[in-house]
Amino acid sequence: MKGTRTEEEQEALALSQAELKKQSMQEVRRSLPIFPYREDLLAAIHEHQILVIEGETGSGKTTQIPQYLLEDGYTQGGMKIGCTQPRRVAAMSVAARVAQEMSVKLGNEVGYSIRFEDCTSERTVLKYMTDGMLLREFLTEPDLASYSVIIIDEAHERTLHTDILFGLIKDIARFRSDLKVLVASATLDTERFSCFFDDAPVFRIPGRRFPVDIFYTKAPEADYLEACVVSVLQIHVTQSPGDILVFLTGQEEIEACCELLQERCRRLGSKIAELLVLPIYANLPSDMQAKIFNPTPPGARKVVVATNIAETSLTIDGIIYVIDPGFCKQKSYNARTGMESLIVTPCSRASANQRAGRAGRVAAGKCFRLYTAWAFKHEMEESTVPEIQRTNLGNVVLLLKSLGINDLIHFDFMDPPPHETLVLALEQLYALGALNHLGELTKLGRRMAELPVDPMLSKMILASEQYKCSEEVLTIAAMLSVNNSIFYRPKDKVVHADNARMNFVVPGGDHLVLLNVLEIRYFYHTARLSKGGYKTVKHQQTVYVHPNSSLFEEQPRWLIYHELVFTTKEFMRQVCLLRLGWLLEVAPHYYKSKELEDSSSKKMPRKQGKTKEELG
Ligand code: ADP
Ligand code: MG
Repeated sequence: MKGTRTEEEQEALALSQAELKKQSMQEVRRSLPIFPYREDLLAAIHEHQILVIEGETGSGKTTQIPQYLLEDGYTQGGMKIGCTQPRRVAAMSVAARVAQEMSVKLGNEVGYSIRFEDCTSERTVLKYMTDGMLLREFLTEPDLASYSVIIIDEAHERTLHTDILFGLIKDIARFRSDLKVLVASATLDTERFSCFFDDAPVFRIPGRRFPVDIFYTKAPEADYLEACVVSVLQIHVTQSPGDILVFLTGQEEIEACCELLQERCRRLGSKIAELLVLPIYANLPSDMQAKIFNPTPPGARKVVVATNIAETSLTIDGIIYVIDPGFCKQKSYNARTGMESLIVTPCSRASANQRAGRAGRVAAGKCFRLYTAWAFKHEMEESTVPEIQRTNLGNVVLLLKSLGINDLIHFDFMDPPPHETLVLALEQLYALGALNHLGELTKLGRRMAELPVDPMLSKMILASEQYKCSEEVLTIAAMLSVNNSIFYRPKDKVVHADNARMNFVVPGGDHLVLLNVLEIRYFYHTARLSKGGYKTVKHQQTVYVHPNSSLFEEQPRWLIYHELVFTTKEFMRQVCLLRLGWLLEVAPHYYKSKELEDSSSKKMPRKQGKTKEELG
């Protein structure tokens, strides 16, 4: 019969299938824990301007609330509903899911906006975006007039941008009485949010939580990666059906763990049931990311190896077992030296409890903590320190200054940043010429704020006009803005990758490697050769050239570096050699010639290091 259907019949069949899919999607929507509270929630939003919403991860806050608001008429007259996410992956993935639920094309009625990628159109009324993107929207629309509702989602993550949004949105809500503000959070810290927003009521969505048995190790694990692999395989062969979620700290670890698992499964062959190994981390291509949501085929088991993105931002159905080594990668910042470090540290108890909670969403679950009960009680912090207290504030200070907020000391911070960090940010912006000596925004500073990049990069881009090298500098800035993802270095092809990179090496340094051209760039980060390492000019801090740098062996006298990171040592990343004359030319207000005198020769610049011409 198959081949004999008419076109009309086929069309009808396709339509009914689409209808079925839509129906089942609606059933899924109705089955979420938030659904029974739809009317009460809408009534509470109607009644209060600011509402804190608390609910377990997976209850439907992010995907459902914007749809409820849309159905209730909040987008009439072309008004938008904005929902912020701290993570890019979450913004994209959630928008895609909601577009699917509404049977619309992503980028039409439902869209997302993340740095360097805008997937919205004039028709977009539900807009998911990173918290950083909403912050930038204040520059063009200081009262957010085109929004009827702003949802600050994942508020408990307390990212720098979310914290700044709190202060700004609280402020505009005072004169935009029609604006609704929803602060959505996992079951953490909600009283503090309520308190900050002048005792805004808290709407609680009771979760459907099954009990989770927690197991600790008797002694600390020497190698938690290996311990994860062993635990996954043990669960796979001894425990009843249910998927596994493993929390690791970053791409490298996740790749290593996935490889080890695949390797051992191959060796075991048909002795064990099929194990689907799926990674998820921020830089994973989005089609690979989507795979974690595919249902597990009968008879097989899925193991998702994730960063803490799976802690609260994304919900994967079907997880029964969680493996938690108890670590995360955390940024910290030393305001005295300007050193930013990304270090693997024990996660907080609050994080560990969120992770365990992932095992109890669909049925009773088990969480295997690869640390001792003692460590949980005594070595872990109660909660994670907000990012604002452990990061560089240059960007945010420039943004606030351009919004006309001059008095940063009295800005309405939920938790204020350390005084030193604020002072260092102001000093950096002064050095770059973005602020004058009174701390006021300069014309240059205003232009710098419009560019969505680090102040040092925006200065470099604007300065390139004068030196007629904008095209080259833009290329370099673009590459520096995407961190280290230009030179992909997969674990199993390290030698190949390094050889390939060597083909791009040219005299002068890493920026020129990124582009074969001489550049004039930001000048704030300078260092001079000194006793086996380098000393930063302004702070006399001992630092080293990163081994991945093309200048690692050459070690020129003077350098400019893009960033200072602490991994195993205090490393300068992306370095470029420097002629001293440049410093006095571009920043006479900041560098005094005395500071730049070479103590060994007592002579001024000219011959310090080799210039590009000398290197030929
Ligand atoms: P919350 O924000 O409260 O943590 P979400 O709205 O993100 O909850 O998720 C609600 C449910 O929607 C999840 O339990 C999951 O079943 C489903 N879901 C969310 N995102 C996706 C996705 N990208 N693919 C498939 N299902 C998803
Ligand atoms: Mg959510």
